[in-house]
Amino acid sequence: MTIRILGSDERVVRVARISYARHDEEFPAERQLKLLRFLFSRKHLSPFEHCVIVREESKEEWAEKFFRHYRPNLLWYWSDGRSAISLRQLVEFPQLVEYYEDVLQERFPAVYDLLVGKEPSPDRMTRDDYTEGPSVSFPFGSVQLVAQTADAQKHDLDYFTFYVRAPIFLARQWMRHRFGAFNERSMRYVDPDQIFLPAAAEDFYGPESAKLKRGDYDALRRKASDYLRALYSVLDVLKELGVRREIARAYYPLGTMTEFFWTVPRLSLMNFLSLRMEAHAQVEMRLLATGVYRLISQRGEL
Ligand SMILES: Cc1cc2nc3c(=O)[nH]c(=O)nc-3n(C[C@H](O)[C@H](O)[C@H](O)COP(=O)(O)OP(=O)(O)OC[C@H]3O[C@@H](n4cnc5c(N)ncnc54)[C@H](O)[C@@H]3O)c2cc1C
Repeated sequence: MTIRILGSDERVVRVARISYARHDEEFPAERQLKLLRFLFSRKHLSPFEHCVIVREESKEEWAEKFFRHYRPNLLWYWSDGRSAISLRQLVEFPQLVEYYEDVLQERFPAVYDLLVGKEPSPDRMTRDDYTEGPSVSFPFGSVQLVAQTADAQKHDLDYFTFYVRAPIFLARQWMRHRFGAFNERSMRYVDPDQIFLPAAAEDFYGPESAKLKRGDYDALRRKASDYLRALYSVLDVLKELGVRREIARAYYPLGTMTEFFWTVPRLSLMNFLSLRMEAHAQVEMRLLATGVYRLISQRGEL
């Protein structure tokens, strides 16, 4: 029986640490474990969604287990000879752990120990395979392919994890794609130097704006930048006056940059590409989606 795995004990921690933009820093194993225990005990389970176990099995084998444990929120998928379940589901439904005992002990030993009530040991934690994977950059964002379970058979339940940087208004469009997992940086940790500005003169204008009315591109860019900087300095004043960061973030514009991890099965990824590379999608969104397309087509994944 072939098993494909996405993620590690450490991946859960890295994904959680994107909240405060610290996901790419080295973090001692003891502190990783402390955070893992916190997420587990407080039921902050979304970071566990970026770890997935894909297993070859028949529909009958999968269905027998699925319907025995059925709950409306049990997301345990099957397609064409493979089932897929995220680590989150195993934490939420520990009665399923018996079906994944070996793979959990080998690939997610710290999470496994927490699941069975044992004290996890920091030196047993599996490390993250998050590296500087291939990426594409645009003046207003970037996409990096972090990991994948994909193989030459190109299956619906191949999983991919991406790390995306984009302005909030594009991230909002992205997150409308619900069949997938997202973990995003908290807006309490905004970097005011990172703001969206159109890359080129023509991106400021729609087809309807007459050529004659088009302003000087550099002046426009400067104005937009000055406006945002003025806004950010007001926010700094609010913070100096003691306004909480959770409140101050309400006044950030949609052009503020954000970043998030996105984990999707191929089935959903293809839906995303077909909708977001299409002519009706906003041009910046189309470019980012084309970046995703390039990353996976470079690896022969299309
Ligand atoms: C050009 C463009 C313009 C858009 N404009 C707007 C807009 O103005 N306002 C706005 O709110 N959204 C807008 N959207 C977002 C759009 O409505 C979808 O939410 C988004 O494209 C995600 O597509 P999806 O639902 O197929 O994907 P996912 O959410 O990833 O869902 C994947 C698949 O799962 C199934 N599915 C998921 N959720 C449900 C459900 N609740 N019920 C039934 N089946 C489900 C469907 O088969 C779906 O194709 C726009 C999208 C595009 C491409």
